[in-house]
Amino acid sequence: MSSLQARGLSRATVSIVSPAARRLELLEYFLVHSEDLARCAQASLEWLARYAGVRRSVCLAVDGEGGVLVGIAGVGVTIEDVELFTWPLSDARDPLVAALSAAAAVTLRPSRGNGQVGRATPSTPLGAGPFTVIPLRGPRETEDTALGLLLLRPGAAHADDVSWVASVLGQTMERIRGRGSVAEDLRRLRRERALFFTIINAVTDPILLTDTEGRLIVANARAEKLFAASEEESEGRRRAVELNNMLFSAALSRAVVEAPSEARELLLVDPSDGSDLLFEVLSSTVEDPREGTGIVSVLRNITDLRRATEQIEENYQRLRVLEAAARAERDRLNLIIDSVADPIIVTDPEGETVMMNAPAEELFTVGTVAPEAAERSVQANDAHFSSFISGLLLGETGPGEIRRGEIGLTNPNTSEAIPVEAIAGKVMTDAGELTAVVTILHDRREALERARLYEQLKLASDELQMRVQAATAELATQNELLRRQAIELEQASRLKSQFLANMSHEFRTPLNAILGYTHMLLQGVAGELLPSVKRQLQRIDSNGRHLLTIINEILDITRIEAGKMPMQLSHFDLNDLVPEVMAELDPVIARSKLAVTPRLAPEAPVVYSDRQKVKQIVVNLLSNALKFTHQGEIEISVRSDPAARAASIEVSDTGIGIAPEHHERIFEDFRQVDDSPTRQYGGTGLGLAICRRLATSLGGRITLHSAVGRGSTFTLTIPLETTP
Ligand code: ADP
Repeated sequence: MSSLQARGLSRATVSIVSPAARRLELLEYFLVHSEDLARCAQASLEWLARYAGVRRSVCLAVDGEGGVLVGIAGVGVTIEDVELFTWPLSDARDPLVAALSAAAAVTLRPSRGNGQVGRATPSTPLGAGPFTVIPLRGPRETEDTALGLLLLRPGAAHADDVSWVASVLGQTMERIRGRGSVAEDLRRLRRERALFFTIINAVTDPILLTDTEGRLIVANARAEKLFAASEEESEGRRRAVELNNMLFSAALSRAVVEAPSEARELLLVDPSDGSDLLFEVLSSTVEDPREGTGIVSVLRNITDLRRATEQIEENYQRLRVLEAAARAERDRLNLIIDSVADPIIVTDPEGETVMMNAPAEELFTVGTVAPEAAERSVQANDAHFSSFISGLLLGETGPGEIRRGEIGLTNPNTSEAIPVEAIAGKVMTDAGELTAVVTILHDRREALERARLYEQLKLASDELQMRVQAATAELATQNELLRRQAIELEQASRLKSQFLANMSHEFRTPLNAILGYTHMLLQGVAGELLPSVKRQLQRIDSNGRHLLTIINEILDITRIEAGKMPMQLSHFDLNDLVPEVMAELDPVIARSKLAVTPRLAPEAPVVYSDRQKVKQIVVNLLSNALKFTHQGEIEISVRSDPAARAASIEVSDTGIGIAPEHHERIFEDFRQVDDSPTRQYGGTGLGLAICRRLATSLGGRITLHSAVGRGSTFTLTIPLETTP
């Protein structure tokens, strides 16, 4: 609006100019802007405000064409109020219309309701309260009706200055009206004003012009939404507007005090929905000759900006948290990767290496001063690995699929070839995008070595198996051979036994005859014998008996061997056998002069066995004891062991004893400790062999405890009941 920029008068010069100079200043302005009534009127009012103490005033002009009184200038009031003010001239009784015809100034007191009968109370931009109306007339004073009105609040105004300004203004009005341009002036004014509002309303940011007290002078549509509400609007909306006004004036006064040109934030309420609106207020002070000091404030809505900033801030924080999590995850991953002994390489979707563990670094990196060979090895390794990875990246493998391949690498430090198995997998995001490829290289040397050893082992095992088969076949042949030999031997043994049995039998008959006849001769059947003949005959008898013993024993052995020793089982008391055995060997005992002591079992153990055979064994054992004992004594002890369901007869002597190495051998056929031709003791070496066989056939056994020079103890143990 041009009138706002009309700064014709310089305030700086005010204090030093005289009253005449002041008036001259206004007149100069009138000269310069002689065609612009509104400007001149505005300048006049401002002049009055400045020099004549008129704080609030309004200038009205008669628009003859429209038949109205219109506001053309104002001070201490809003421009809007001035410019929108129109007053019909039709009612001649109206105080304002009447004032046009008045010769001098009149004072009006607008009152509420119908103050004056039949007249509408003039409501001017000056608002409630009395005001003075001065008709503006030209110098000719011929006009009945003034051309305009000067409205001002009555007070300590300089009346001279006021009437001077009124006359000057009246003259100018008359002059301009003489050319008929008041209406045009007004129309231009209105156009400018409309344009002004169109412009400021087009601005989406609220724009306000306020006076230094924070009173609203001009506001664009946006600002009005925030700061203005009519009576008809809702209570909530009006409250919101009220609050906004309070907040705004507080902010404004703060801005004026603190730093006027600085942008500051202002939180307002949206009157339409009550939501918070954040504005950035940029205020600047404007000096206007008519309006005085005003403050233009532009409010920029930064609610969205702030929200976006907060969102960005929030996102940034979230990003940082995620980043920290990702970092931790990466650290953990590194830890895992580094703790794996196999080389691990992580590559991005382009095949660039992004991470590798220490074992991988040994294969794929090289120091700055490494020998050329090492560098070449690393390059070759790189090339092999890249071709493997590109195969995976270009290949058809889907997510989760694993690609395996063999790569020949070289240890850069030792130039040793390392065949590796590469196992690569794709790492996909949730959205299915490839983010990385993880490859593990597994050294195959050990596996290859194992495979080689396994092959060797297999060969050796096959060979061994063949050998075992050969040996088994050989063994089978041998076994077969042995089996046949055993059969043959058995046959031979049987034949031998048969032969021995036959022979013994054949020997025994004539021998018995010899012994019978010898006995008869010794009994003197053929008459008294010479002592020498008798001795010879006794020798024949003795040797014959010995031979008979041998033959009987051989016969026993062969019978047992041939299984022809019949069993005669009966119940008998083992204690009873002892005196019988002693009686049978009584002559020998008597000859030996040894004490033979029987020790019977207290509970008389009754056994079910072959009485004859048990007796034969004990006789044999006792006769051996007598034969091999020169001094001391012999004991025959009977014991029973019900817990083991067995009974035993033990023959112990204090004789020559038997060395441990002979303990087993003496039980073999024809075996004697001393088997030299010059041996001291007679015998066939068959006695113990027969005893053991008999004991075995009774289900029992013979055991021996003996030490050389200390005596021997032979024990026959038999079950309480022999099963046939
Ligand atoms: P022999 O008819 O020779 O006595 P045996 O079979 O009865 O045959 O005994 C074999 C050998 O065991 C005897 O020659 C003897 O050397 C030894 N022998 C057996 N009984 C005794 C014993 N009580 N004391 C020492 N030696 C014994």
